[in-house]
Amino acid sequence: MSTRILVVEDEPGIRLALKDELEFEGFDVELAEDGATGLAAVLRSEPALIVLDLMLPGRNGFQICQELRHRGIRTPIIVLTARNEEVDKVRGLALGADDYVTKPFSLAELVARIRAVLRRSQTHDDRDVVEVPPIKLDLRKHCAFKRDVALQLTDTEFRMLALLLTRPGEVITRDEFLKQIWGEDVYVTHRTVDTHVAALRKKIEDDVEHPACIQSVRNVGYRFNENVTGS
Ligand code: CA
Repeated sequence: MSTRILVVEDEPGIRLALKDELEFEGFDVELAEDGATGLAAVLRSEPALIVLDLMLPGRNGFQICQELRHRGIRTPIIVLTARNEEVDKVRGLALGADDYVTKPFSLAELVARIRAVLRRSQTHDDRDVVEVPPIKLDLRKHCAFKRDVALQLTDTEFRMLALLLTRPGEVITRDEFLKQIWGEDVYVTHRTVDTHVAALRKKIEDDVEHPACIQSVRNVGYRFNENVTGS
């Protein structure tokens, strides 16, 4: 069975060009021309990936991204942005998109991005649950727990924690966080990583002044402690 891709795009020219190209590349393609139809299609046909235009009539791409993630749907999303505005990219990624492509784009570039995101998501999906006591993450349902108490994390915090927990004891550099969580082309700095780690620590550490779970590795990055004691 071929991999199903849902394209949510209101401009007929782009929609049909995408359908032709993706079918030519061997994908099974479903089309939606507005947000409501797109959402219904995600729920009905469970595509492997969604290509989502940001500027749509009715519910826009930001709202759809947010709604899918709130419902715990982790289907990879590549956002199409009409304008080359950093703010759109950052907002799109913060709301849980996996990558973005700025219009006008080449079909070859989009196909390459789709394949890369699918590869990443398939390696992610090997495990549904990762646990390094006292933290447990359900990657499919997008839920986080500390000693079985649910944590209220933002999508960015969840993804950062997932990155740390899937490689316990290993140092994740700030550059790797930027690449994995925000995407390479987005303008964010090391300071952004530190800010999010600080927010995450407030939610998961018993003592924020002496973090036991997320350890700082001076001038390099962060590591999740495999042997958290005191719990
Ligand atoms: Ca549009």
